[in-house]
Amino acid sequence: MPPIAPRIAIVGVAGRMGRTLVAAVEQDSNATLAGGVVEPGSSLAGADIGELAGLGRRGVVAADSLEAIVDDFDVLIDFTTPRVSLANLAFCSAHGKRIVIGTTGLNDEQLAELDGYRDRVPMVFAPNMSVGVNLTLKLLETAARALGDEGYDIEVIEAHHRHKVDSPSGTALKMGEVVAESLGRTLKEHGVFTREGQCGPRSDTEIGFATVRAGDIVGEHTVMFATEGERIEITHKASSRMTFAKGAVRAARWVAGQQVGRYDMQDVLGLKG
Ligand code: NAD
Repeated sequence: MPPIAPRIAIVGVAGRMGRTLVAAVEQDSNATLAGGVVEPGSSLAGADIGELAGLGRRGVVAADSLEAIVDDFDVLIDFTTPRVSLANLAFCSAHGKRIVIGTTGLNDEQLAELDGYRDRVPMVFAPNMSVGVNLTLKLLETAARALGDEGYDIEVIEAHHRHKVDSPSGTALKMGEVVAESLGRTLKEHGVFTREGQCGPRSDTEIGFATVRAGDIVGEHTVMFATEGERIEITHKASSRMTFAKGAVRAARWVAGQQVGRYDMQDVLGLKG
């Protein structure tokens, strides 16, 4: 039987997403805030994670290792860096825990390493945990099937805050992949990630990406289908990190009741099949 209110620990609890996740778990009556982890050696170890999140004392202090809280949680939520998330995935696999990974920017080798755990641990891995974005992926599939081979040029445009370290965003890549797969294309062959100088006209089948990094933009994505005479734009705009955090907590509650396997938000939301 899955736990009724799974005990959730958050790694990277002092980060932008980590602090928002504390608030999201707190707001969810079907989840229990059980622990938080900061970077080893951080001066924030021992701080109350409610206070870190600006909520006031919650009586749960930040640890500086997962080992220190191994008996306290059922599901780990990890929004950190690729290297750290993979180490935590190995930890969860070794200790019979479940994990939700929101970290983006994993390279092909790291993705293959993550995939190697699909038979060992129940995990949800998704570059975007927002319910709206995952519904948008469904809409893109439909749009691509109807338009992509009918002379419509496809471009993905994304904007994020100035601190984001990977580009294009994991969500933009996912949107591109969904469109490409619907059309029997691949991003490896058809993705165009830079255009500069005399690069010539676009080809019919390329899927172009453009990136904006500025200010405090939480996350905006548009996929454009443009042809002579009309343009369709499917846009998602996130105005608060809470949308990702709530999705991650929903994923944590869901994965608490799952068998070993690699899942994404489409599984969590029942949007597959
Ligand atoms: P951030 O830099 O604010 O937070 C990352 C935190 O991880 C930092 O506080 C850092 O101290 C901590 N950390 C690093 N190494 C650690 C370790 N070994 N142990 C414990 N903590 C450690 O970054 P952010 O804006 O919160 O984003 C984090 C990741 O989440 C990025 O990859 C970002 O792209 C991704 N993200 C995903 C979604 C989604 O819906 N999937 C949404 C937003 C952000």
